[in-house]
Amino acid sequence: MDLGLTSEHQMIRETARRFARQELEPMVAQCESQECFPLEVFRKAGELGLLGPFFPSEYGGSDSDLLSNAIIIEELAKVSASFAMSVDVSAIYFGYNLFKLGSQEQKTKYLPDIVTGKKLGCFALTEPNAGSDTLSLATTAKRQGEHFIINGSKIFITNAPIADYFMVVTRTSPRDGIKGGTTFIVERGSEGMEVVEMHGKMGVKSSPTGEIYFHDLKVHQRQILGQQDQGFQGMMRSLNMERAMAPAMVIGMAQDCLDRSLAYVKTREQFGRPIAEYQLIQAKLAEMAMGIETSRAYLHKVIWMVENGMDVTKEAAILKCHSTRVATNAALEAIQIHGGYGYMQEYGVERALRDAKLMEIGGGTNEIQLLVIARELLRA
Ligand SMILES: Cc1cc2nc3c(=O)[nH]c(=O)nc-3n(C[C@H](O)[C@H](O)[C@H](O)COP(=O)(O)OP(=O)(O)OC[C@H]3O[C@@H](n4cnc5c(N)ncnc54)[C@H](O)[C@@H]3O)c2cc1C
Repeated sequence: MDLGLTSEHQMIRETARRFARQELEPMVAQCESQECFPLEVFRKAGELGLLGPFFPSEYGGSDSDLLSNAIIIEELAKVSASFAMSVDVSAIYFGYNLFKLGSQEQKTKYLPDIVTGKKLGCFALTEPNAGSDTLSLATTAKRQGEHFIINGSKIFITNAPIADYFMVVTRTSPRDGIKGGTTFIVERGSEGMEVVEMHGKMGVKSSPTGEIYFHDLKVHQRQILGQQDQGFQGMMRSLNMERAMAPAMVIGMAQDCLDRSLAYVKTREQFGRPIAEYQLIQAKLAEMAMGIETSRAYLHKVIWMVENGMDVTKEAAILKCHSTRVATNAALEAIQIHGGYGYMQEYGVERALRDAKLMEIGGGTNEIQLLVIARELLRA
């Protein structure tokens, strides 16, 4: 296992960093305050090949690897967690799922536009009464000849208000363990589907979130992703990959907190000296760096395992739980280091805390990650 970055990875990091600073950063304050997504910047990211470089070139990707994707997500998240999250959902939750489970026809139809940023995807699993307990979801799809009729609703769906394509997990058969779930690809504008934008989030304010209502939505059976009644199995397989990728975002957020803190402590003087000289401040910087470096090294290991076809159920859960705690703590310490200024919007670190907290909840809460880790340990 080689933990070193190749010159290609270094180049991708430079490209993503320059893009994030030049194109994304100028939009962040306005988009966060107005809760709007910078769609034009997203399209430009697609033109530059930043939305899933690991996809094969036949679908518009760069035939690159998953580590390249993690590097890009980390750089985007340093500037805007909201933007990185919407990119991650479209490229990984929608795009990677489609790539792994979709038919040739579906991949040819949907993937190129997702990879090049012409279209945006979302993944709709959570329901008002089915969050951690995903198998209890109540949205149904009933067969009617070659079609299915979908009824029910989804909540907290990232990108739903602006998405072109929706990956919707439904129940097609009565609950029988992990069996009975079916996922469909639905296009925006389909009759019988209504999207309602949700406002008032604590953080990631420029990543749009929505509720989706299905009233007798009619979909053809060729819109099934994978196989009928096998939707949960497919989802569980992809979820490990998603849990392995999301920490790239979290590490970017924590790194930004450390970078801002390092710059601040050298210029802020109290008691006649830069606060960087005080050991209690130094300890905070050291703790932040320890968390970030160990998370990043472990992320690269987990990605290597995924690339080599290994099961990462336990490792992805450890990574998600550990790195999200690191990010929330880094944001808290960054605020503390900035003192009263840290509490104000202008310095950017209060946003980091609001954004970081979500990462301990979305994509499976940290409590659920702990249960997964323990289950895997006890099974061994
Ligand atoms: C901004 C945002 C974006 C999101 N984006 C998406 C998206 O794109 N697609 C999507 O499908 N979902 C999305 N979600 C939903 C997210 O994945 C869920 O909120 C999350 O899985 C938790 O579900 P819940 O909110 O229903 O909490 P619950 O499952 O009700 O959990 C409540 C609390 O109980 C704890 N708990 C539950 N079960 C157990 C247990 N067995 N043992 C111990 N503790 C337990 C939880 O850890 C939590 O602390 C998003 C959520 C937010 C807030």
